[in-house]
Amino acid sequence: MQSNPLPSESDEILLAQPRGFCAGVDRAINIVNEALSRFGAPIYVRHEIVHNKYVVDELRAKGAIFVDGIDEIPRGAIVIYSAHGVSQQVRQDAAERGLQVYDATCPLVTKVHVEVVKLCKDGFTVFMIGHAGHPEVEGTMGQVESGIFLIENLEDVEKLNFSADERLAFVTQTTLSVDETKEIVNALTKKFPKIIQPKKQDICYATQNRQDAVKFMAPQVQLVIVVGSQASSNSNRLRELAEKLGVPAYMVDAPDQLRPEWFEGKKRVGLTAGASAPESLAQAIVARIQEFGPRQIRSLDGVVEDVTFSLPKNLTHPV
Ligand code: SF4
Repeated sequence: MQSNPLPSESDEILLAQPRGFCAGVDRAINIVNEALSRFGAPIYVRHEIVHNKYVVDELRAKGAIFVDGIDEIPRGAIVIYSAHGVSQQVRQDAAERGLQVYDATCPLVTKVHVEVVKLCKDGFTVFMIGHAGHPEVEGTMGQVESGIFLIENLEDVEKLNFSADERLAFVTQTTLSVDETKEIVNALTKKFPKIIQPKKQDICYATQNRQDAVKFMAPQVQLVIVVGSQASSNSNRLRELAEKLGVPAYMVDAPDQLRPEWFEGKKRVGLTAGASAPESLAQAIVARIQEFGPRQIRSLDGVVEDVTFSLPKNLTHPV
């Protein structure tokens, strides 16, 4: 149960709890840092390791080279897969190129990969609820050669032309809006009452907790700042959620993107950060907001996360 001290009369910045790095992002960044310190630069990373410009720029400065295609990597080099996961085709291309692979796919994304493979093997047609073009969606759908279809919205559900008696199942991207996904799931289960649902929700704990924290914070503030980069799915969902709750919200990934006029007449400003945004960046943004006028800082109550994921064994215990 969340509780809060009585509101103060002075202008404030309210900090959502939890915010920022999740266990999957933390692990992915640690894998790149560990590889850099063990093997030295350059270390190739397929796709941005996590969707945050600040993090990517920092790792690039240390010697990480970010590429979109395996064919951009010299034969025999080291490659790290991003937290979003990769398709089987990418794994095959890397093997053919003789690359030394360290996999930073978040274990919660891998869990969905395993589900998809099992369902398809058992003869199910699988629907993936997610956003077209997102690397996690490409990676998950790319676990199988056929039998998986993307659903982005309610209209896609309406268009589905399957018999209610077919063997059907669905999985979801891990970083979706919890509420919007519920609507799509309800439409799917109404249309296909026998559809198989994931045993445990695919939307991850970090996405759920950060959205819950915004729901708690939004009614207490007149403006929400989300620290996150444009490509970050979970950060975009936080901004949309605040707006749906009737609070103007902006997403920024550098202090100089803040505009002083956003804060005029706003007594209480809420700040949250997507799962790929570091706390140091959130603090730099808080400091910049303070330059527009003094504000007390108040951390809200919320879930304290203690999830951690270990690094890949082939990195920590090389044979
Ligand atoms: Fe893993 Fe969730 Fe973090 Fe994505 S947001 S890296 S699925 S814990």
